Parts: sequence; structure tokens; C-alpha cells
Amino acid sequence: MNYEIVIGLEVHTELSTKRKIFCNCTTQFGGEPNTHVCEICSGMPGTLPVLNKKVVEYAIRTGIATNCDITTNNKFDRKNYFYPDLPKAYQISQLYFPICRNGHIDIIGKDGEEKQVRIHEIHMEEDAGKLIHDDWEDCTLVDYNRCGVPLLEIVSEPDMRSAEEVIDYLTKLRSILQYTGVSDCKMQEGSLRADVNLSVREMGSKEFGTRTEMKNMNSFKAIARAIEYEAQRQIDIIEEGGKVVQETRRWDDANGESYAMRSKEDAQDYKYFPEPDLPPIIIGKEWIESVKNNLPELKDAKKKRYIEQLGLPEYDTGLITDSIHLVRLFEKTSEICKKPKIAANWILGELLMRLNESGKTPEDIDFDDSSLGKIIVMVEEGKISRDTGKKVFKKVFEENVDPEKYVAENNLGLVSDTATLKPVIEDVIAQNEKSVNEYKGGKQQALQYLIGQCMRALRGKAPAQEVQKILKELLDK
Ligand code: ADP
Ligand code: MG
Ligand code: ZN
Repeated sequence: MNYEIVIGLEVHTELSTKRKIFCNCTTQFGGEPNTHVCEICSGMPGTLPVLNKKVVEYAIRTGIATNCDITTNNKFDRKNYFYPDLPKAYQISQLYFPICRNGHIDIIGKDGEEKQVRIHEIHMEEDAGKLIHDDWEDCTLVDYNRCGVPLLEIVSEPDMRSAEEVIDYLTKLRSILQYTGVSDCKMQEGSLRADVNLSVREMGSKEFGTRTEMKNMNSFKAIARAIEYEAQRQIDIIEEGGKVVQETRRWDDANGESYAMRSKEDAQDYKYFPEPDLPPIIIGKEWIESVKNNLPELKDAKKKRYIEQLGLPEYDTGLITDSIHLVRLFEKTSEICKKPKIAANWILGELLMRLNESGKTPEDIDFDDSSLGKIIVMVEEGKISRDTGKKVFKKVFEENVDPEKYVAENNLGLVSDTATLKPVIEDVIAQNEKSVNEYKGGKQQALQYLIGQCMRALRGKAPAQEVQKILKELLDK
């Protein structure tokens, strides 16, 4: 029999707001355990949450960028469950009136045609803490720093039909979240994670099969592998005359298999009720309009502008716009050096080479964002040679040095004033009588040799063109 895979995703993304959703604690990743906490996010009795307005704004931004309707009358609901990483024993979420509904993201489908993946809803909620299993002491520790970090949950319809479509959808979604500034989507830090709901059915069938859910997947590679594995597992069960059980499964990427965690819980298991500690949020039309008008430029629009206005080649543009981190560096660098094409060349050449060499990705770039621009200015103004520029960039990339200071301290600047260059060149002429005579006899190669000797004497610290000019003037006298 021929089978079709059916996939729907629930994606959780941590927002880039500075403060948590219901208190003033920082959302910064990491930190000493239990230092980013207060009475509110650690769930002390008698405290009251206050909604961070930025979270609502970010949710509206995401909704607009994913073609959703924005719900004007919002409220929060309380989802009750006990788990040690959730000190209140409930999570504030949205069940009945999620902030965004009925959207879609366009992807390239299995057949190569553009296709829509519908978004069922997007809702706001708070993240839970983290459990740390300490095998050495044989106990479990809990870190509440992540408690109350704002989340959006983006729920798709079961519209995807293959691992490729899922990766395409996630790539598009990640780009939207990054370009709108809603999230940094660092998967290793858990700021983008996906629950993969998957079922299989006979090709052509109208009914959906029974699905399983693989929770908290945080790498594209693992997601693609998990989909292949889980689809085959379900097909095998059906082929053997069995029935797929609706359950939550965990994907074990190291062993390349999934295993059952618990049977699927329903909304009613959580005894949801309207959150009594927060008033409803009414979102006015003007607010939605103003968010819409201030939406940052998204990927496709940026790409078009780079090609049409800056004259960048399409291929180069694609490489840069694939990563918001490269986009930010490119825009900052162009702003400083005023030469976008040259900025693009340095990024695609030197920077990508350094990233490749060190096994890093654009998210890992940690040097000052004005440094590359400063290097380009020095090269373009003839203050340093291109080669020196590349060496300085390597230092910037590795140690985040200040490029101008580094050039000054290491005496790497080019000397181009004639008064300094002339005596050195005269000296070279005096010492290379043979080549000088050859040049005068019409042998052009001899000139190259003499330039080389001058550059050596100047230890490469003069612009070759300037040296050639002075040399010729002296020889042709
Ligand atoms: P719940 O709230 O119980 O998790 P939902 O109906 O909200 O269930 O669905 C959760 C996710 O599962 C959605 O992304 C949806 O697209 C997906 N989904 C629902 N039914 C199926 C199915 N039969 N096969 C694959 N995915 C499904
Ligand atoms: Mg669910
Ligand atoms: Zn707090």
C-alpha cells in the first residue's frame, strides 16, 4: 500500500523582550541558577502578574507577518498542572481567545509548486523552569531562571506532507521571527522548539490517521530524522494489522529512535479556567495599524531592495539575507564604509571563510559590528593594504580587537608620502644597476623586479601603485 504522511507543528518561540511576561526580571539566557527570579515568577502566594505590553506587540507583529486575523478581545486562561519546574502549579496561557488566528505561511510544496501551510492560531504564554538531573548526587535540581520568559505558541494545521515541507515551513517561520525582531530563534538555547504531530494514511484517503506527538525538538536535522523514523514505525504497525496509539513520544537523536513517554492528554485534563489575576486585553484598531506600519522589512522585500537599489548580484543577496545576523552586519558595514558592494564582498569572502574554518555559524559572530566597516574604510582610503586588512580582520574575528588601534599599535599603516618613499627607492636603484640597465634597454620584466625589491625594502608598507609611480619617475628621468 502507498502511504501519505500528515504533519502539523506546534512551535514554541521565546521572545526577545528584555523583561519577562508578568514581572520585571531579565529574560537573559543562562546566568547562575535562580538569580533571574522574583516573587512573581517563582510563584509566591499573594503576588499578582502584570502583563508586559511588549509581548502583546510582538504577538501582533508575528500575526501580521503570518497573515493572521488579530483577536481584538483577548484574555488569558489558567492551565493547571503540577510539575516541579512550574512553581505556581499552573501556566498562564490562552485557550479560548488566542491573539492570532487563521493565518498562513507559503512554502514550496513536495511537487515544487508554492503551497500554503495554514496557521490555526498563535497564543501567548509563559515558559517554565528547567530541571537539571544530577547523576553524581543522584538528585534533580531546579533552575527557575526561565520561568515567566514570554513564549508564543504557533500552531499549524496538519498541512505538511514530508520532512522537506516541515523544514521549509520552519525555515520560513524562523526567518519571519528573526526579521520582525520577535525572537533570536537560537535552537541550541531553546528559543525555537517544535512539537511534531504526525500520522500516516492511505494515499488518497480523506480521513486522518491517529497521530503521535514528538515534543520539544530543537534541531532541524533531528526533526527530519525523527519524521522519517516515526512515519516508518506507524506504517509498519498498520502493515502488521495493528493500530497506532495516540501518545507523546520522545525522539532520541543519539540512538535514532523514538519511544513512548505518556499517553496523550486532552485540554480537559488541565482544567482550564479564565485567569482571574489578569484583566482582558482589548486591542484597538489603531494599535494593530501602527504595528503594521512599523513592521521591519521582511526577507523578500529586503532581497528585492538589495538587488534593485544596491545592485548586488542575486546569488550574493540570497546568501546574506538567509541570515538576519549577516543582514545586520552588512547594513552596519555599508553604513560605515558607504560601499555596499565592497561590504558584501568582504562578508561573503573573508567572513564566511573564517566562519567555515572555525565551524561557526553567523549567530556566533561576536566581534563589534562596526569593526568590519572600519577595516574597509582603511583599505579603501589607502591607509592599509588589502592584505593587511585581511590580517586585521582575522584578529577582529578571533579576538574582537579594535581594528584602528590594532593597526596603530602594530605599525601596520601604509607609508605613502613621497618624502619617506623616495630615499628608499633611490637606494634600491643604486644597488640594482643590472636591472636598471635592462629596464632602460626595454625589458619590462626588470621593472617588476625592481618594484618587488622596493616593496621588500619598504616591508610591504607602501601602496604598490605609489611605489611604481615614483620608481618610474626616477628611472625615466
Ligand atoms: P491538542 O490541542 O490536543 O494538542 P490540536 O488539535 O490542537 O490538538 O492539534 C495539535 C497539532 O496537531 C496541530 O498542529 C495539528 O495540526 C496537529 N494534528 C492534529 N491532528 C493531526 C493528525 N491526524 N495528524 C497529524 N497532525 C495532526
Ligand atoms: Mg498540543
Ligand atoms: Zn520575576
